[in-house]
Amino acid sequence: MNRISLATEFKNSLKKERIYYESDHSDEFLDKIIKDMEHINIYYIYSNKASNSIKFWGEDAVIIWDLNYWKLFQKYLLQVENCKRFNKNLIQGIIGIISEFISDKYKSIPEISMFVKQISDIYGVKIQVSYDDCINLQDVVEKGKLFSLFHEIGHLEYHKQNNELVKVCEELVRDMFCSIANKDLSSLGEWAVLGRKSVLHIKYNKNEELLDEITADTFAVMNMVNYFKNSDNKSNFQLACECAIAIEYLSAFQVMFNAVNEAWDAHYPEMKLRFPVRKHKIDSYINELAVARDGLCGQLLVIIIQRMFYLDKNECKRLWDCIDDNHVDNSDIISCLADDEFICTAIEDAFS
Ligand SMILES: [Zn+2]
Repeated sequence: MNRISLATEFKNSLKKERIYYESDHSDEFLDKIIKDMEHINIYYIYSNKASNSIKFWGEDAVIIWDLNYWKLFQKYLLQVENCKRFNKNLIQGIIGIISEFISDKYKSIPEISMFVKQISDIYGVKIQVSYDDCINLQDVVEKGKLFSLFHEIGHLEYHKQNNELVKVCEELVRDMFCSIANKDLSSLGEWAVLGRKSVLHIKYNKNEELLDEITADTFAVMNMVNYFKNSDNKSNFQLACECAIAIEYLSAFQVMFNAVNEAWDAHYPEMKLRFPVRKHKIDSYINELAVARDGLCGQLLVIIIQRMFYLDKNECKRLWDCIDDNHVDNSDIISCLADDEFICTAIEDAFS
């Protein structure tokens, strides 16, 4: 199907779903990148779900690029920089941003929206840095976008099953997961059980979706490195650091953001239809995919970066130090905003 008729058919089908809204804006950076990619269709939306995805029609596919997701990620990074620079409480700062997002997301339920807005009003930290002044953050956002774009293309190629690089990535993921022993999972702490589950699922072909996601990440990192290799007059080490840091920031944000969203969405019937609040029997909304991607596959991505940029032993060590220095610990945000008891109390209070 040609591009134009595909786009029209696609838009009509999305309109039926009533969840996506086309945006009048596009993403300049992304437009530049996909200019030469004939087979890639991008549909820009601005949604209060803030999530990127891919939709398939037979052999064709359209990448749904949510501008709101990137706006939020940019704000999150600015807050990280802001709190670092002015020595403010980062946990409060991020809670402020995410609760503002939740408030916006549920604006069709005014009681909830207003209640959650108060959290951001009370805890929020004013951002005093501007994006234009933070060249390093602009780099993180651009590399993050590139990684995400290639991730979605990875899904597309995985779906088609005729891309050699995807096959290599899939093999690599299988090899890596099959070589993980129980003792290697101890670093995951309380998530070791989920880690073990994901290892068994990949090993015995039990979770196609998980394999698809992780293969797409591996495909994305390889394409990302190829894109930057020998460019920008930068050293391989510097480029390796920039790629790894961007992925680190994006994945820490994504894990937290997914956990918080899933936790709140799970209570949607109580919020929308005012059903009695029901506590869910789960400890946390961190799932198998998050542990497999962030906890296990994250290391594979760094190893790929190290190999593809030909880093020596010393540089490999320095790269890990760089990643550690830029790690944002979002566990307190998850413990607070994705906590079932907290959400139940908030819903009850909002309606009281
Ligand atoms: Zn994906």
